Amino acid sequence: MFTSINPFTQETIAAYAAHTEQEIEQKLQQGDKAFRQLLQVSLEQRRQWMMQVAKLLKDNVTEHAALITREMGKTLKEAKAEVLKCATSAEYYAENITAMLEPKPIISDAYKSYVSYEPKGIILAIMPWNFPYWQVFRFAIPNILAGNTGLLKHASNVSGCALAIEKVFADAGFPAGTFQSVLVSSKNIEPIIADPRVQGVTLTGSTPAGKSVAALAGKYIKKTVLELGGSDPFIVLKDADLEAAAKTAVQGRMQNAGQSCIAAKRWIVEKEVVPAFTAEVKRILQTLQQGDPTLETTNMGPMARPDLAAALAKQLQDTIREGAILELGGTYEGCNFAPTLLTGVTNNMTAFKEETFGPLAVIIEAANEEEAIALANETDFGLGSALWTSDLDKAARLATRIESGNVFINAMVRSDARLPFGGVKQSGYGRELSLEGTHEFLNVKTVYIQ
Ligand code: NDP
Repeated sequence: MFTSINPFTQETIAAYAAHTEQEIEQKLQQGDKAFRQLLQVSLEQRRQWMMQVAKLLKDNVTEHAALITREMGKTLKEAKAEVLKCATSAEYYAENITAMLEPKPIISDAYKSYVSYEPKGIILAIMPWNFPYWQVFRFAIPNILAGNTGLLKHASNVSGCALAIEKVFADAGFPAGTFQSVLVSSKNIEPIIADPRVQGVTLTGSTPAGKSVAALAGKYIKKTVLELGGSDPFIVLKDADLEAAAKTAVQGRMQNAGQSCIAAKRWIVEKEVVPAFTAEVKRILQTLQQGDPTLETTNMGPMARPDLAAALAKQLQDTIREGAILELGGTYEGCNFAPTLLTGVTNNMTAFKEETFGPLAVIIEAANEEEAIALANETDFGLGSALWTSDLDKAARLATRIESGNVFINAMVRSDARLPFGGVKQSGYGRELSLEGTHEFLNVKTVYIQ
């Protein structure tokens, strides 16, 4: 059974039975059948169905958002924004997919040669609970438009979201089996990865989950895209607009109760501006209302599970023991973790070395910009990064030296349907979204005409 528990009230919302082996086989058959049906369907028809997906999400935004909030605790406001982002991204890809799939002519010795982009079959998506709609849709939209079908193994605490998303694709008119959710535990994933109808695996989640799934996929020669954790640096140089930087730092760290792979997890601040920056972020953090996520006045909900809150509390205590100073917060009860600020964090402390997945902000002092860049890169992760400075030439120069999948200058790291998204180092490989992401699970086929 998969049980969904409301993180704020700790009430059990629903329990879902795991699919049997037979049911999983039916889903694989249905997914394969839908793949073959999609091959016969025009791109124009798929675009129209995807526009219908967008419409259904928009028309029912309140119901979808309420489900997200009930299952994983983010505020209703954040949940609505997440559902609408899925809808606008569906529209974006419906409008732009034709150009992304256009065959690319290449001059060679041939009379004519080109590359065509062709779908491969069922893609298995193993997805996390933190953005239970967006993480799924950002994989599903471009892949389904390109002709692949999707089989979702969602996180065990958001089965209601998994089934609601399946219904959106079915109601939009796509052939049955185009997008399906399979309720299966992590330990039973191998037969699905092994199945020849499954042509690729995309996973968003922790590094251990990524390692385990990539090893299995390697065993069966299946392409993988891995979007794993991060410990993004948020670098503030002394010539930055401090007010804007502080506001964005708090938003980048605290949104979604800090549970984002691209959260601003390490605030690295040039020493001259540490006092002013600290005072400003402290002021803003004190204005945050943490509590009932269904209330309009709440701007930070609970964390998604008590074990995640307990793990964060341990990282916090370890970091304090190692010498950091607790400036704000530091308490938790159940899933409700107060927005917390530590100063005096250094590169040998837990909150610097490990990913912290919750509302814990840390300030790390850098002697100068050289040290700031060195500290930024002193991590096993390499997902996102932010750099704040008023000198844009310097920003462009320093951006090339940061080891990450993206650098946002004077802005918050975020995923955007138009831009590639993914990491380097232990944050994973491959890309989602944009042209690069759309091509990941396609057969990039060379056609050579003598
Ligand atoms: P996990 O990485 O364990 O879960 C993410 C997804 O992967 C879930 O669907 C999970 O399924 C699945 N999964 C986990 N292990 C395996 C496996 N061996 N084989 C197949 N599927 C697997 O995240 P947690 O929920 O445990 O969170 C722990 C930490 O992971 C967080 O504190 C954070 O550091 C990181 N994380 C990063 C995310 C990101 O956006 N990059 C998102 C979520 C978490 P199931 O739920 O059934 O175990």
